Parts: sequence; structure tokens; C-alpha cells
Amino acid sequence: MSAELTPMDIAGRTDRLRTLMADKQLPSLLVTNLTNIRYLTGFTGSAALLLVTADELLFVTDGRYGQQASEQLGAAGTTARIEVENLKQREIVADGFRGSGAATIALEADSVTWAAQRTYADTWFPGAELVPTTGLVAELRVVKDDGEVERLRTAAAIADAALAEVRPRLLDRPTEVEFGRELDTAMRRLGADDVSFETIVASGPNGALPHHRPSDRTVVDGDLVVIDFGALVDGYHSDMTRTVAVGELTETQQRMYDVVLASQAAGVAAVSSGVAAKDVDTACRAVIDAADWGQAFLHGTGHGVGLDIHEDPRVGQSSTATLVDRCVVTVEPGVYLPEHGGVRIEDTVVVTPDGCQPITLTPKLAAV
Ligand code: ZN
Ligand code: ZN
Repeated sequence: MSAELTPMDIAGRTDRLRTLMADKQLPSLLVTNLTNIRYLTGFTGSAALLLVTADELLFVTDGRYGQQASEQLGAAGTTARIEVENLKQREIVADGFRGSGAATIALEADSVTWAAQRTYADTWFPGAELVPTTGLVAELRVVKDDGEVERLRTAAAIADAALAEVRPRLLDRPTEVEFGRELDTAMRRLGADDVSFETIVASGPNGALPHHRPSDRTVVDGDLVVIDFGALVDGYHSDMTRTVAVGELTETQQRMYDVVLASQAAGVAAVSSGVAAKDVDTACRAVIDAADWGQAFLHGTGHGVGLDIHEDPRVGQSSTATLVDRCVVTVEPGVYLPEHGGVRIEDTVVVTPDGCQPITLTPKLAAV
């Protein structure tokens, strides 16, 4: 699968990061979050450090990953100096920092533990000023390049195809676990590297729990079944939810479905570059509030998606983000009522200058 995908412009990302660092007057940054390291270098291993200074990109890993690092960084076209070292990583990074002439070093506050920060201060960079940063590389990751959008589209298409294939199985009254397994197997067969996250299949009363884990409950007539899942392609996650009705729905269930459907459409219609993410949440919430189910919409409207399943920008009432061209977000309102079950409908969309383009293409039909 990955071999057919358009290459991404990984090498250009470091310059964008340096511009951002210069804006914030940060002369050096130690990147320790592995997903951020992957984004900046193409490296997919489980141990690495990346020191970014004005003149150098220093990549340090251990002996397990020497060959993988030179292959992946070479393929990505990054100009990093690669050091493979098991015991003296501290000396190498400290030398690289001293050589840059910088007096301050920025750390990623969201992924550096308190204990690690103490170690950096006391033994790695004594005498330097340590500056906590938050969301620096995450800010770059918000805007997707063509290669990233292609990966997200491919992952979403696999999820669409897998659901289309497996959906009729609901008529055979499987358990939640059985149905989830079939969906996961179909995604892998259709080319996914893995599932994006643990598939949610929540039937009947379980549907009222937004993050229910699949159980041995058998799907029965009159169930709403919430199916939230995605495929992983070359590190990029897809994320979609459909709610499927098995048998006849009650009047209330039908109304729940119609309200969430209208809410989701209002949210998607509100998405555009330049729009506050909060306003998309407000658009979804207004429809559900008007149906008097505001208290039953138990979560925010959506989130960014990319190398992480949940990333910036968040789409909720507490969000301060503004949507920008080529950012990718989900729109996923829901209504959860213990006595009736749950309905959630989720699409992933690519933000454009005058709206958005959904990359989740499964029709929103309640019937199996
Ligand atoms: Zn989801
Ligand atoms: Zn989601």
C-alpha cells in the first residue's frame, strides 16, 4: 500500500519549524515526542532525539535503529546529522547544543516528564535556560500537504469499503465483538497497515456510552448500533462513525437519528478556513439544543486527525483554534440516552478556503 503513495515533503518541514522558532525567539529545540520526530524526519522507530538549532538538525538514536534511521531519513531527504549511540547520547546532544551557541533550549512540555526535565536541567544542559513550549510542531502538523491528504483519503476509503462489505452481517445478529473483528479484518484485507484505534461497536443500551468497548452482547431488533472506527495507512489515521438501525426504530430513536443527522450536516456546513473551531461546535450544538437534547450531547464536536488519531485543532466550546486551509478535522455530534441508546455520526473533512471536502464517503443511512 505505502509504496504506491505520493512522497511527502518531509525535508521542508524543518525550515517551517525554524521559522516558527525564530518567531518565538527560540534558538534551539529538543524534540522528544516520537510522532513529531516522525513528522520532521520520516523516522518510525521507537527511540530517538532530535535537536533543532539554527544551523543543524541532529538526530540521535540507539544501535537498534542505525540502519533504519539512515534509510528513512535518506528517503525523506532530510539533511540531519545522524548519530547512533547507546551510552553517550547526552554528550552528543549537549555538544550539539553548545556548538550552536544558543543560551536557551526549548523542550516539548506536553511530552517531557517532570523527572526528565530535571535531568535535562541538571545534567544535559547545565547553565542553559530551559524553556517549555507547547504545540510547536503540532502547529505545523495542522496543515496537511498533498501526500498527507492522500494518505488520509486512502485510509478513509478503506474504512468506507470495509463497512460497506461488513454492514449486512448485522442482519445475522452478531455480537459486538464479532462484528468489530470482521470490520477490522476487512480493513486489513483492503490494505490498512492496522486499525486506527480500538473499534467501537456499541449496540442498544451500550450505545449510550460514547466510548463503549465491544462486548459479547448480541445485536437484537430495535437496536441502534454505533460503529466508530478507522484504518491506518503509512502512519495516518482515518476516523468515522455511522449509526445503523437493526429492525424497526421507535419514534424517539428515529428522532434521535434525524436530529444528529441534521446537527452533523450543520457542523459540516459551518466548516471553512477562517472559521473559529468553536463555531462549528456551536452549529452542531444549536440543532441538538433545539431538540432539547443538549444535555445528551456528551462530548465536543470533533478533533484534528493525522499522525495522531486526536490532534490539533480541537473542535469544541473550549477551543481557541481557527480552522485553516488544508487542516483535517472530524465533525461528530451525538445524542446518548440510556433508555434508547446512542446515535453518533462522524465524517472527516479537509478544510478548504470556501468550505470543506468530506473524505468519509459512506452514505448516512440508518437502515442496514
Ligand atoms: Zn471516531
Ligand atoms: Zn473522532
